[in-house]
Amino acid sequence: MADLIQPVRGMNDVLPVDAPLWERVEDTGAELFAAYGYQRIRLPVLERTELFSRSIGELTDIVSKEMYTFDDRDGERVTLRPEATAGVVRAALGNGLLHNQQQKLWCSGPMFRREKPQKGRYRQFHQLSVEALGFAEPEIDAELIALTARLWKKLGLASVTLELNSIGTPQSRAGYKKTLTEYFDAHRGALDEDSLQRLERNPLRILDSKNPRMRELIERAPLFGDYLDDESRAHIARVPQLLADVGVAFKLNPRLVRGLDYYTRTVFEWVTDRLGAQSTICAGGRYDGLVAQLGGRDTPAVGFALGIERVVELARADGADVAEPPVVDAFLVAAGDEASRYGFKVVEELRDRVPGLKVAIGSPAAGFKAQLRRADKSGARFALIVGETEVAAGRVSVKPLRADEPQRLVTTAECAGLLAPVRSV
Ligand code: ATP
Ligand code: MG
Repeated sequence: MADLIQPVRGMNDVLPVDAPLWERVEDTGAELFAAYGYQRIRLPVLERTELFSRSIGELTDIVSKEMYTFDDRDGERVTLRPEATAGVVRAALGNGLLHNQQQKLWCSGPMFRREKPQKGRYRQFHQLSVEALGFAEPEIDAELIALTARLWKKLGLASVTLELNSIGTPQSRAGYKKTLTEYFDAHRGALDEDSLQRLERNPLRILDSKNPRMRELIERAPLFGDYLDDESRAHIARVPQLLADVGVAFKLNPRLVRGLDYYTRTVFEWVTDRLGAQSTICAGGRYDGLVAQLGGRDTPAVGFALGIERVVELARADGADVAEPPVVDAFLVAAGDEASRYGFKVVEELRDRVPGLKVAIGSPAAGFKAQLRRADKSGARFALIVGETEVAAGRVSVKPLRADEPQRLVTTAECAGLLAPVRSV
């Protein structure tokens, strides 16, 4: 036998058994985004590298070491998208969607980051992301947070908490960065390798360290609060008010920062203690400077992204009920060559008559008993049996598989009548 081909490390298959829970997360999200007035946008997964280096920032982990970047055959430098926001802004600008307009958009799909694969951290992962472009008001920050809170509720996720902070404007951050650099520089000896690098590049990112050894040092670091500009202060003060009004609980975390350079003012994360080290299921914030950075006019904006793998994992840990519906409503069981041909036609006719009917044909060569066993295993309510008798009579035998009721010999039209109510329950 030939060798099996292995998948690329950190890239996973989502198997049919997991599909219902994935779909539930995706469908519930899509439903809510629409209910809040957000429209879907679909974007390429491959973009020019420059898009990410200019938006996420050259010195971030993502751009400096995690991107899948290569030269296309014509020499153009391209990257598999590590996140969605930059692409959304590029598309909105390029298609004139921000021309005297605001946009509320969402999108979904795979993201790629060459991180060290572990539970909850993969090299291809999936996000739902939501972006409001052209909105300066804290109401929109709060709206996005309220939307996510509603999503968790709908998905039955009990163990999530919201952390909130303001990282101000780039101007107000400059003063803080200086203080922070001095503080960490004075404790150089206690810094791990990652943090030493961050000290040179962006000391704020040290606050985001996931190394438990760094925790104490971070706890004692000077806080940003004192450096916050007045406008940012007023903006962030309003968000908790709005959230409190609608009963969304939150924790102010003055050490919360984000790993991408484009964030300003409001940042938030939804975290859980049930997923181990990969505890953030959703993160977002304001990025008032990004549109201008990518060549547009000054346009305030805010957004978030949730990691579908982590949300699915948490839904499972929180005991989300994922009663799997039967795969099909009815299953064809055919005895013999002629009956199999006849049954094939009957099943197609049933599909015409009962829109949405889920009916499967098995392997007619498998023998009658084996087919009946598979029909039963499929979870179908009915087996549709055809043999010599049925072919001769131009009928089909309908055998209930989940109820102790007799088998009935019926016409295709009558069969459709029996199956139609199954569809509507
Ligand atoms: P983390 O701090 O866990 O690395 P992040 O700050 O890099 O996350 P974002 O870029 O804000 O994450 O992405 C938003 C969400 O996407 C995260 O909260 C997480 O749920 C998910 N996510 C990010 N990176 C990965 C990954 N490598 N594998 C699986 N999910 C991920
Ligand atoms: Mg990360």
